[in-house]
Amino acid sequence: PFDVLVIGGGPAGASAAIYAARKGIRTGIVAERFGGQILDTLTIENFISVKETEGPKLAKALEEHVKEYPVDIMNLQRAKHLEKKDGMIEVELENGAVLKSKTVIVATGARWRNINVPGEQEFKNKGVAYCPHCDGPLFAGKDVAVIGGGNSGVEAAIDLAGIVNHVTLLEFNDHLKADEILQERLNKLPNVTVITNAATKEITGTDKVNGLTYVDRATGEEKHIELAGVFVQIGLVPNTEWLRGTLELNQIGEIIVDKKGATSIPGVFAAGDCTDSPYNQIIISMGSGAIAALSAFDYLIRN
Ligand code: FAD
Repeated sequence: PFDVLVIGGGPAGASAAIYAARKGIRTGIVAERFGGQILDTLTIENFISVKETEGPKLAKALEEHVKEYPVDIMNLQRAKHLEKKDGMIEVELENGAVLKSKTVIVATGARWRNINVPGEQEFKNKGVAYCPHCDGPLFAGKDVAVIGGGNSGVEAAIDLAGIVNHVTLLEFNDHLKADEILQERLNKLPNVTVITNAATKEITGTDKVNGLTYVDRATGEEKHIELAGVFVQIGLVPNTEWLRGTLELNQIGEIIVDKKGATSIPGVFAAGDCTDSPYNQIIISMGSGAIAALSAFDYLIRN
């Protein structure tokens, strides 16, 4: 059996595995796709001390760093169930294998909800973006749209308004769902236009995004806006469906953790975007992976 078994091979999982292995304990890592979300990321400019890198390059560096240590890497494997039995934690994989470990660190990350209109997949990283903290500065001085009028959409619009030339916020319903205080703040900004009842039909472009077509749901009329970028802000979904009924999750499915990364099952820790941490960033995921590993080690020496 393992001392520490990490589920997930993104920034959080890789960091947890390295911190655990450096304690000289038996460490394993199971990942559906080693690298995680950064594999889908083009430019990264906020990974502090690295001025600029690209996602796949950082993913490769993560893997190489993990391979410096005797970590048992099980890539292309998906965990489907976790339970505590006789003091050990058992993790069942989709291929039927059951792995046993004294502690587990869940770092299965999250995924942005897609809008699923033509152009979204085609122009990902070519004008279609999901993270204003990450990609906002790439659109400095240009016109962008934000799709989604919930808290994350309105926060993104406020954030982007300070960087870009103009922001159009599109909401499908007839009103925004964001907190009143955010809406008040948004309405005071001179370079933001809010369009409600807007059903996005297509993100248009040639080699990169050049606009967006939407249907005005009140009139049925089709309209086109010229843009350099589209931020899709209709929700970030944690990859925790497989833990429902096992670990305590919050309303939106995030694993509830304390300051030490501990979950509702003793010996099971969690880190990164799959937890209820307030911000989802590479540097934050790596930090929380380190916390979870150190907490797992602390748990092992006490139990
Ligand atoms: P993830 O990266 O989501 O990794 C999760 C891991 O778990 C993956 O290996 C996945 O395959 C695996 N997994 C999931 N389910 C299972 C399962 N059941 N069994 C086994 N394995 C499983 N952040 C920045 O700081 N700067 C940026 O510039 C930036 N740009 C971004 C651009 C895009 C397009 C996206 C999508 C995100 C961006 N982010 C950026 C956010 C950043 O990528 C995430 O915050 C970070 O990757 C989270 O790390 P994580 O390890 O928690 O999760």
